[in-house]
Amino acid sequence: MHIGFIGLGNMGAAIAANLRNAGHELTVWNRSPAKARALVESGAVLAATPKEAAAGCAAVFTMLADDAALRTVLDGDNGLLAGLANNALHVSMSTIAVATAENLTAEHRARGQRFLCAPVFGRPEAAAAAKLYIVAAGNPADIEFADPLFRAAGQRVFVVGKTPAAASLVKLCGNFMILSAIESLAEAMTLAEKGGVPKAQLLEVLTGSLFDTPVFHGYGKALVDGRYRPAGFAAPLGLKDMRLAAQSAEALRVPMPLLGVLRDHLLQTIAVEGEDVDWSGIGLTIAKNGGL
Ligand code: NAP
Repeated sequence: MHIGFIGLGNMGAAIAANLRNAGHELTVWNRSPAKARALVESGAVLAATPKEAAAGCAAVFTMLADDAALRTVLDGDNGLLAGLANNALHVSMSTIAVATAENLTAEHRARGQRFLCAPVFGRPEAAAAAKLYIVAAGNPADIEFADPLFRAAGQRVFVVGKTPAAASLVKLCGNFMILSAIESLAEAMTLAEKGGVPKAQLLEVLTGSLFDTPVFHGYGKALVDGRYRPAGFAAPLGLKDMRLAAQSAEALRVPMPLLGVLRDHLLQTIAVEGEDVDWSGIGLTIAKNGGL
């Protein structure tokens, strides 16, 4: 299948490479064209504009930082909306606001184009290994059409409804819970360490007993190693997700007091550590607050 791929950052470059490895014809676009070099060497074509990336494609994926980046790519004479053919499919994999997903559903429909939301769980290493968890929502026929493409990028596809925005909501709920897990782990590790128990030992007990889950294993090791750079998932992107979750919570009238704490710790981490720190860097903030 001829596929377009827009957004070749930490996640997008790896997903696009897997689509290419699965034998699909690939046209790519990235704001910084240098990031396309490896893909072009493997046979992908580099487009000059998002519109050009969509030309002749049955499906175009976007994997961009945030809602504003997606908007920039969509709009204008050289944008994706202008380039996507009638009846062609846009698959948005970025973590975006529920409201953005709703707006895009209507915009694509008005143009006779198809649209799926398919955000992902898993960090860049998982993307490179085609081990992502893909959360998809939209028209069932479109999901069936995209299924072989999803299988090339992920280990499992969850279909969460016919309304694309539902996938955004699930992704935001998940990221809220991941950061809650990092926060609780970092608080517990700070307490243990200050009381004389090494954090590695605490982690061994927790992950060897009641907390034997990928989030506690993966982020627990990052906290023990103090490995926060280079960021696999940059703290400003995490802050964006807490903001988008808060927007949904406000719209749906759901109090989420913990979300406020997570947002503040992430903001404090970015203010002190800089924009390039991983979101698990809140472990640094929590340790410092605890006097370590
Ligand atoms: P990233 O490495 O920062 O890449 C961001 C991409 O967006 C790059 O291609 C960047 O282009 C592009 N971009 C940013 N601003 C733009 C603009 N104004 N106009 C056009 N393009 C723009 O981010 P990532 O880690 O790949 O994350 C991508 C998405 O996946 C985000 O929505 C994130 O929340 C989500 N996500 C990330 C992870 C993770 O672990 N990293 C996991 C699950 C989901 P340049 O290369 O030119 O900067």
